Amino acid sequence: MKLKCPDCGGRLRFRTSQATSLISIKATVYCPSCLRFKADFLGQLGNMKRAVYIDCPEANAWDKPERELLKEKGLRALSNAERVALVRKGLPQPSLFNEEDYTNAYLDKK
Ligand SMILES: [Zn+2]
Repeated sequence: MKLKCPDCGGRLRFRTSQATSLISIKATVYCPSCLRFKADFLGQLGNMKRAVYIDCPEANAWDKPERELLKEKGLRALSNAERVALVRKGLPQPSLFNEEDYTNAYLDKK
């Protein structure tokens, strides 16, 4: 993490830090360049999300990266929300080689 000294623009250093909760930390920073600045630093995790991994057996059939295959077919990648929506409905992930099946999974088409 790079924080600049508001006084001289030098890179601040962390002196001490301690967790204040499971998701937050408090630290003291100082400027080793000008030695005229120190401050408390408060950091907290936000917008927390948990990843959902989905099986990807179709990658066995790819001879190049998915991004290139999508570009060749003029398709955009499915978003995470679109893939999760299929899982919630109990539907399989669409095949990149079945373009109709694939584009029907786009949320903005429904
Ligand atoms: Zn400074």
